[in-house]
Amino acid sequence: MTKIIDGKKISQEIKDELKAKVLSLKAEGKKIPCLAVIQVGNDPASTVYVGNKKKACEYIGIGSKSFELKEETTQDELIKLIDELNNDDEVTGILVQLPVPKHIDEDTIIRRISPQKDVDGFHPMSVGALLIGEDGFLSCTPQGVIQLLKRSNISIEGKECVVIGRSNIVGKPMAVLLLRENGTVTVCHSKTANLKEVCKRADILVVAIGKPKMINSEYVKEGACVIDVGIHRMENNKLCGDVDYDDVAPHTSYITPVPGGVGPMTIAMLMSNCLKDA
Ligand code: NDP
Repeated sequence: MTKIIDGKKISQEIKDELKAKVLSLKAEGKKIPCLAVIQVGNDPASTVYVGNKKKACEYIGIGSKSFELKEETTQDELIKLIDELNNDDEVTGILVQLPVPKHIDEDTIIRRISPQKDVDGFHPMSVGALLIGEDGFLSCTPQGVIQLLKRSNISIEGKECVVIGRSNIVGKPMAVLLLRENGTVTVCHSKTANLKEVCKRADILVVAIGKPKMINSEYVKEGACVIDVGIHRMENNKLCGDVDYDDVAPHTSYITPVPGGVGPMTIAMLMSNCLKDA
């Protein structure tokens, strides 16, 4: 019997736990975290993401500061704002909504955020800490996948884990986190030979390729757990993932739907990062 992993429910549980933590911080008179969110330009998808992040801050009871900069903002102006926020003691987390306009270099911006306030976990210091198993901010989406597995009582230790995708924000940190949980991890990408055969070995298959419905049942071992990170809006305006859900689901023990699987976890883990050192 296939079990559908309910990311909406699990993310709500996490947000409620964080809300309770904030209440106890308040009761103890401790400092309440504050997230600064910077958006450059007005890409509609980014506006929705930024709005959801602000709402989540409100829900769990932490502070948020919002900076909506115009599209023409120069890289130097953005850097100046980041520097100010790095030095602002009230602000404990800084997030620049990606993508930034083309005239701004994303890597320069990511590196400018203080690693102590890097709640997205994208700074090379955060990534390096993850790799060598030191304390640091973890990238939100892969961290959300680990929570989905743990809170669904799916053990990772000793399992064959296959990650499709090697991006810096999903695939690579995902592989390292599964390794940290004692999975046996294989990472696939666009140059992987025999992708189907490699995927068929997986007890846990994490798909982050950015190709709508590419993974069908031919890639999946009977009884595997399939986590679909992909998110795409189809022509009929509905959302789908990188996995062909209807074809794959009957062959799995556990599967995440799109929407309502990995997606809601990303913001929950961002909130968790905001409270990491509180
Ligand atoms: P990227 O485009 O940065 O990376 C895609 C990866 O997939 C690359 O490593 C690429 O390989 C690999 N790939 C592409 N085509 C194939 C193929 N035919 N066979 C095998 N591997 C392939 O994407 P992201 O990692 O940023 O995102 C992946 C998906 O997750 C997207 O759908 C995105 O929208 C979604 N996403 C969802 C989030 C959420 O909160 N739910 C958050 C972030 C992303 P190579 O390196 O060789 O090019």
